[in-house]
Amino acid sequence: MHPSLYYFSCYSWHTILESEETTLKFMQEVGLIPSMSSPCPACPVCGAETRVNKAPERKLGFRYVCSTRRTAKCTGTVSALKNTFMERSQLPFRDVMAILFGFVKKMQVTDVIESVRNWRALRGEPTISNESVVDFYSYFREVAEVFASHHSKQLGGPKKTILLDETFVTRRKYNRGRITRTMTQTVFGIFCK
Ligand SMILES: [Zn+2]
Repeated sequence: MHPSLYYFSCYSWHTILESEETTLKFMQEVGLIPSMSSPCPACPVCGAETRVNKAPERKLGFRYVCSTRRTAKCTGTVSALKNTFMERSQLPFRDVMAILFGFVKKMQVTDVIESVRNWRALRGEPTISNESVVDFYSYFREVAEVFASHHSKQLGGPKKTILLDETFVTRRKYNRGRITRTMTQTVFGIFCK
């Protein structure tokens, strides 16, 4: 495990989140986003391998282009952030990680909104909407639910107390679109005290 995670505390956050660069490095080290040495994805057009292509204007400084670009003139490209949770976010990495750390530390979402707003104001950046933070919180919860459902074990036993709960989860892509009735699904929760 990464030492920053092993010794994770709210006092060590600031070291990781010191700059966009330190945050990016941390995210690459723990495997949240790819680095240039990560395995390349398949070309979305022809299915051939892709190669790293330096692109300074991109957030990670590179993207993937099809390896048959020259020979077969395939124009397939893949964003380096494809299939990562940063894919659709316009926020800086450090703000997203600050929200994630708040979630992990079970902070109230209202506290996170206030903290991120103050931090952005201090850095001279425009404010952030309630929805952006709330959407990330519901997205992180979905990830946690999927993880829990893949790492389940039988709960309960003598003298154990079980809590049951039904909740509704929206399948909204953080920041995008409206919530409709068909986008909600029931999640049955079970928890052993
Ligand atoms: Zn291709």
